[in-house]
Amino acid sequence: MEEIHLSEEAFAYQSLQNFLSKFPNEEACLKLFPTTCKACGHKKKAVASSARVINCSRCKTKTWRTADTYFQGLRRLMPTLAWIWLHEDRAVLSINKFAELFDIAYATAWKIEARLQAVLENEMDKHDVIELITSVFDPVIQKRSIDSTANEHPVYEDDDNQAQVQEQENLDEDQQAIRAFLMPQPVEFDNLFQVSGLPIGKFSAALACLELEGIATRHAGNKFSLTKTNPALLIGTQEQEVLRRFFAYIKNLHGISRKYLQRYLAAFWARVGVNRWSKGTFLKSCMKLRRLSYGEILDYNSPKKLRVPYTD
Ligand SMILES: [Zn+2]
Repeated sequence: MEEIHLSEEAFAYQSLQNFLSKFPNEEACLKLFPTTCKACGHKKKAVASSARVINCSRCKTKTWRTADTYFQGLRRLMPTLAWIWLHEDRAVLSINKFAELFDIAYATAWKIEARLQAVLENEMDKHDVIELITSVFDPVIQKRSIDSTANEHPVYEDDDNQAQVQEQENLDEDQQAIRAFLMPQPVEFDNLFQVSGLPIGKFSAALACLELEGIATRHAGNKFSLTKTNPALLIGTQEQEVLRRFFAYIKNLHGISRKYLQRYLAAFWARVGVNRWSKGTFLKSCMKLRRLSYGEILDYNSPKKLRVPYTD
């Protein structure tokens, strides 16, 4: 198993090298954006390579080259472009590593991935999917308690997921916010704090409550994970094969939460689906879209029935 993960990482680094040889700096990234005046359509020929704004010599209007694209208002184009590149190459890299390599905060790297996953989810919905209930993903995203009768029946019948609903009701808003970011793998206190968006006092108090409730587990080095349970898995062979591959894919990442499960499935789809993306198509989609706000990312919740891609 370990060998597979290592080669996945080596592949990701190779992909990143290819990206950097084509886009070694911000100026190189800017070349992707047109130098055409948005007001009159006049194409400016001589533009300084670092110019983000062009002044039209014909109509005197200023145009931001990244305007009306996914990249509008982004201070640095490179991290997002690199992440898109990796997705198109179907390379898998953890958010931690990504943050480290581009010298950005974990929270920034996390937001880049979360926003791109939203694009991928839209794209995935244009294709055929299998629907699976949320509890079949328990091996990678643990919930606190599991109805023992669920182990005796095919999970298709376990449709209302009571334990999950109950748990959510007992938690206050702050606790729920942190709960959404807890993963089966231990996450550092600081990283959890950063993504939670809470003030430190409220964050510490809510995290302590989650620990007392048995939802969060504290590990050495001030790390926290979601407390684990071991539910049974009874589904058809095709679904099992997709799940097996999804779980293997997830192992290469830092970990995932139930809240964003659907979007991780979309990211998975982008990597395992047959001919889903050819080089440049993901970037092309992004060029036409606007980025989600942080609020829009936080408001997201995966549906109870997860849409899972068909794989070859
Ligand atoms: Zn003009």
